[in-house]
Amino acid sequence: MAAYSGPQLKIPMKAGDSILLTVQAGGRVADVLGGGIDPFHTGNSYFSLDFDDRYAGDPVLAAASGAATVYRGQTGYGNYVVVDHGGRYSTLYAHLNQIIVQNGQSVRQGQRLGTIGNTGQSSGSHLHFELKYSGRGNDGNMAIEGARLDGLNWESYRAGQRYLSTNLEYTGFLYRPDGGENPHACADQPAGGADTNWTYSCRDQRESFESGETVWGLFRIDEVFSDHRFKVETFRDGVFQWEWTAGWNDVDERWGWRHAYFWPRLDNASPGLWEFHFFVDSGGGFATQPTGVITFEVEPREPFVFSEDGGTNPQTCADEPTGGAHTNWVYSCRDRRNIFRPWERVYGLLRIDRVFADHCFLVQTYRNGSYQWQWEWCNRGIDPNWGWEHAYFRVSQDNAQVGEWEFRFFVNAGQGYSASPLAAARFTVR
Ligand SMILES: [Zn+2]
Repeated sequence: MAAYSGPQLKIPMKAGDSILLTVQAGGRVADVLGGGIDPFHTGNSYFSLDFDDRYAGDPVLAAASGAATVYRGQTGYGNYVVVDHGGRYSTLYAHLNQIIVQNGQSVRQGQRLGTIGNTGQSSGSHLHFELKYSGRGNDGNMAIEGARLDGLNWESYRAGQRYLSTNLEYTGFLYRPDGGENPHACADQPAGGADTNWTYSCRDQRESFESGETVWGLFRIDEVFSDHRFKVETFRDGVFQWEWTAGWNDVDERWGWRHAYFWPRLDNASPGLWEFHFFVDSGGGFATQPTGVITFEVEPREPFVFSEDGGTNPQTCADEPTGGAHTNWVYSCRDRRNIFRPWERVYGLLRIDRVFADHCFLVQTYRNGSYQWQWEWCNRGIDPNWGWEHAYFRVSQDNAQVGEWEFRFFVNAGQGYSASPLAAARFTVR
């Protein structure tokens, strides 16, 4: 017997369905139906099987991939579909209620062809299924789910038994939201690749971002084929912003990719409630409802952070504050004091965190409550999106006259300087 070179057929129903075979190849009828030989299931249709106890409307799936031909109500088969698998092999699905494939359409294993019905010469809803070689029911070598059928000398598929399908319904792609992992948003570019079995993920997964940040969305779908197209629509506060579409040209048409990832990017995010809507077109156009949605919030950026650190910020000292790279850019005074002699130089030091380029700073100097002079500084060297982790402002007063002094620090984060100072450093000269 020649080695089997035909399609790897699966039971033409959904995975997990346990299906009662009522008429087996060769026409033998299950004992529960009275036994005997059914004349409609002999002859050229040696390999015809009746899958029964199915309800009208249950899906009928292609047993293997191929090209579909559609027939409607022309014979005792009623509405039926033939799928040509190539190599002279074909399968036939009869008595269908609805047919949902087009004539000539190429279908994949598991693709829904139609639904179980009772059309044509049929005494109840069931699927009449045939395997053909050269249009007839015999090459003596066909198999379903690995169990061979051998004409009248069948080895498996006996009437009266139940068979469990493993035929995964093909829906164009598989999408499985997995408990928050898919989809999600993150602040770092998703990373992965060969050493991760091509699984991509974010280290910094979040639902909340600050204005100015870059936000990445990450969608995963499985079994992506080259004829699929993808689209991400972006909304802010329910208003469409922009969309991004993609297709794949280097996916094998028959087998697809195990996983595919899509990561839209939003730069310089502005405040609001954002959504990425992910759509897939697996042949019939984009669905009206998104396959997956990522929602995230972008909060207005907190302009700066000031912490008094238990009285150590701000401070005054007699030596110039020092710091730099080897101190993680933390500046401090060695000779920290509040009392100075008239000939000394007095330094004031203020630290604030997360300083952005649009911030301006002002120090006003007071002696015994009277304004003396001021110094203003607007930073232009900071990336407007990212800011500095720490910033220090140092002022100095030479040859201060005897009295009670204050350095008053003000910050303008875009709304103008506040009326009262952010902080004041007080010292006495005597
Ligand atoms: Zn039949």
